[in-house]
Amino acid sequence: MAKIVIKEDNYYHNLELLCQKAGGKDKLMAVIKDNAYGHGLEIMAKLASRFGIKKAAVKNLEEALHVEDLFDEVLILADHPSQNKLKDNISYAVHSLEFLKRFPKNSNIHLNIDTGMHRSGVLMSEIRESLGLIKENSLNLKGVFTHFRSADDFNAELFWQQENWKDAKKEAIKCIKELRLDMPNFHSCNSSALLRSQKTIEDDFARCGIATYGYTHIDKNIATYDLKPVLSLYANRLSTRVLKKGQKVGYGGVHVADSDKIISTYDIGYGDGFFRYDGLGDLSIANGQKILGRVSMDSLCVEGEKDEICLFDDVSEISKYFNTITYEILTKLMPWIKREVA
Ligand SMILES: *Cc1c(COP(=O)(O)O)cnc(C)c1O
Repeated sequence: MAKIVIKEDNYYHNLELLCQKAGGKDKLMAVIKDNAYGHGLEIMAKLASRFGIKKAAVKNLEEALHVEDLFDEVLILADHPSQNKLKDNISYAVHSLEFLKRFPKNSNIHLNIDTGMHRSGVLMSEIRESLGLIKENSLNLKGVFTHFRSADDFNAELFWQQENWKDAKKEAIKCIKELRLDMPNFHSCNSSALLRSQKTIEDDFARCGIATYGYTHIDKNIATYDLKPVLSLYANRLSTRVLKKGQKVGYGGVHVADSDKIISTYDIGYGDGFFRYDGLGDLSIANGQKILGRVSMDSLCVEGEKDEICLFDDVSEISKYFNTITYEILTKLMPWIKREVA
């Protein structure tokens, strides 16, 4: 059976590095949304908690309910309240004035402010109105945050947005004091913004996903970082045969044998979330061997007859091959693939 292996040591290595940057374990929120970027929600939540991480961010309520016992705070990033009786440590991100008005009384919320990404968040000009509504509607303001659009890029955009965030924070603090609300936590950095910060962050914590799993897309002209990939994908042999010179393998017969060779099929395909390689380029598994022909829904083909092969222990090359980002290759891995910690 195919499996995913989680390297605990690598995860802790990455967390250590990020916590040092942030200024302590209390200043790092582990982003474990989307099944912990495909790594397995409960496994990664337990590891993070064992390491001493106290805060986590998830996609929706369903994910929050799976990990609520492990953290002091669980922030739901992309969902709306659908039930009233929630544990006190669960809170929701609020992304607009429109939806802020609809939040049920006493909800725990983190207010998202749009400081330049223009994807979500209340406008900077709506900060006062938003906080007024929070007071009026008896919402429990736990956090105020923003998200950076260009933290990976080799230009000055991050600094521009960080200036906006400083202004937003100042305005929010002023209004919060006037309204006599409790002072919430402020947070802005994702992995890249935290990695790039030259000194301990001024915010209360950073929200890190991809770097905890061992990757960054920060332009190499800015810096490189000592991160270690956490996830490896293994597949097991389903069958073996001799492919004679001139014979073709798989859909469309895209791969033609240039000599007699032993080939085997393995139990991972695009239905498992492995990207569908069309057999035309030059895509290799971890040991450098080529994938032969097209990837099928539940299988792919490689020369040899090993019982188990490692498809990847680092998705950087595969993500470049498919012109995408490591995030996408990882999050696509289906939840039914067995996960184990090593
Ligand atoms: C996904 C997400 C993060 C984590 O981003 P990384 O680049 O993976 O560190 C942080 N904040 C918000 C709001 C997110 O949606």
